[in-house]
Amino acid sequence: MISVVIPVYNEEKNLPLLMDRLESALRTLGRSHEIIFVDDGSRDRSLEIMESFAGRNGVRVVELTRNYGQHSAIMSGFSIVRGSIVVTLDADLQNPPEEIPGLVRAMEEGDYEVVGSVRQMRLDPLYRRIPSRIVNVMTRRITGVRMTDWGCMLRAYRREVVDRMVESEEYATFIPALATLYAKRMTEIPVTHSERHGGVSNYNLGKLLSLQFDLLTSFSEFPLKVLLYLGTALALGGVSLAAMLVVMRLLYGPEWGGYGVFTLFAILFFFVGGLFFALGIMGQYVGRIYHEVRKRPRFTIRRVHGG
Ligand code: UDP
Ligand code: MG
Repeated sequence: MISVVIPVYNEEKNLPLLMDRLESALRTLGRSHEIIFVDDGSRDRSLEIMESFAGRNGVRVVELTRNYGQHSAIMSGFSIVRGSIVVTLDADLQNPPEEIPGLVRAMEEGDYEVVGSVRQMRLDPLYRRIPSRIVNVMTRRITGVRMTDWGCMLRAYRREVVDRMVESEEYATFIPALATLYAKRMTEIPVTHSERHGGVSNYNLGKLLSLQFDLLTSFSEFPLKVLLYLGTALALGGVSLAAMLVVMRLLYGPEWGGYGVFTLFAILFFFVGGLFFALGIMGQYVGRIYHEVRKRPRFTIRRVHGG
């Protein structure tokens, strides 16, 4: 059985067409399937529309209590899947549902645990594409996994991988990266990409930055290491400067020391700046640790419609 999980946040314009295309795509696959829509606290008529799909053709609708973000929404869908292969996809028709059979086929033929996808000819505006490119490069560095296109959510996962992702109770998650912890055999296939069918993107620069920080802090201690090296270098520099000042003062007398006052200020500001930078990064980690230790649920399901 194939499970399709779709996070939905204010997508009323896209849902009817999405449902039509999904159903025909899944029909060509000719396998038993279920579709799980997750309503991530939409404020438009999305929930109502999805409820009208519920029950027919194995559609279930997870209603969350508020907006938890795309990745938590997918995770809540993961927590109730029944299929052995789980496909995720966006609701805005940027990921064509017609690609699902290809993903499933690639997974089964190559016996893969995760099949990712690379968007050919991305049709997003430039201001959306550049941050994605940065995210892609950073993610590759952080996870050490050479996947080309991390942002594309059109992906297939084996059930075992999905179950393990649900078990790892991190609050801040980035699903494609999390999956790499639990899967050994991964591949990616090219898929087409379209413009958003209706509505506007739910991501802005702020949200993207926060997602990137989640990714960075939950998958690596790299920033902390940078701090350590930076701190060490600064401290060494400081010590040698101090030694130099003492020597110069001894050689050239008290006047020389007086002229050095402004240099000293400059140096001081430099160090204070470094310190604040360090504190900021530490603060990010501490904040995230605090978030995790509170152990609040990643999502709260209000109701599941349709069985
Ligand atoms: N989404 C969500 N919760 C959010 C933001 C987005 O469930 O808080 C869903 C959204 O409905 C869509 C998918 O995540 O199905 C991707 O969002 P969007 O298309 O806005 O992002 P972009 O394509 O610009 O990366
Ligand atoms: Mg989109």
